[in-house]
Amino acid sequence: MIVTRFAPSPTGRLHLGHALSAVRAHGLARAAGGRFLVRIEDIDGTRSRPEHVETILADLRWLGLDWDDLSFQSQRLDRYAAALGDLRGRGLVYPCFCTRAEIAASASAPHGMAPLYPGTCQALTPAERAGRMATPHCWRLDMARAVAMAGPLTWHDATAGRVTAVPGVQGDVVLARKDAPSSYHLAVSVDDAAQGVSDIVRGADLFDATHVHRLLQALLNLPVPRYHHHPLILGADGQRLAKRHGAPALADMRDRGVDGVALAADLRRDILPTGFSLGKA
Ligand code: GLU
Repeated sequence: MIVTRFAPSPTGRLHLGHALSAVRAHGLARAAGGRFLVRIEDIDGTRSRPEHVETILADLRWLGLDWDDLSFQSQRLDRYAAALGDLRGRGLVYPCFCTRAEIAASASAPHGMAPLYPGTCQALTPAERAGRMATPHCWRLDMARAVAMAGPLTWHDATAGRVTAVPGVQGDVVLARKDAPSSYHLAVSVDDAAQGVSDIVRGADLFDATHVHRLLQALLNLPVPRYHHHPLILGADGQRLAKRHGAPALADMRDRGVDGVALAADLRRDILPTGFSLGKA
């Protein structure tokens, strides 16, 4: 059974790139008589807003997409805590007390990437750690240990073919945040498995994250889905759409009377509205 999902974060309004992900995920499931799920990724309690959820669902209806299940990550926090507990029990995560400023000051940041965590808190002794547990902390994956435990890993990507996972380059990623009980990486990996998602359709901007997800699947003994990373949509200036850069929201197009079902039909055939183009995968 093919099961796909569209997994938006309700921290803003959807743009054409999201529409492409949703249309492709929906199409892949429907063409195979499978299931299409909508999962609202609202673990970030401060940035997620209920009004964005309403707008997202209205956008999907406008595009003519129907779904078989609607779930909210905020209602599944116990699952992420259990997965973290499992990793913790095996010594694969450690608490980190560093502030953003401390990390920025000491970390090496390859061009265009988030700073790599320098491992400061990994070096704490058990006594030092115990003494600080009352202060706010996140939980980081002990990447070196995790990679050694998991051994070589690959995944199948519809565009890139067989990909060798190299999660190590991302350093000790955060699995549970100071301000949220899970991180994107952990919640997505746990949910895709729990929901039986067979095929993950998402933008190429999340390709790097898949290296980490593949590792978490190995550590948590989860099935490995197939991946379909689609090219990102570029604006007239050749820059990729991002909510922050003033890309038109689907809600604005809806308000202007654009025909959403026709737009979805075009996106299915990789035809984009004037002024937009598909980047390289
Ligand atoms: N929630 C993520 C986002 O909105 C996407 C998650 C995914 O497709 O894995 O960027």
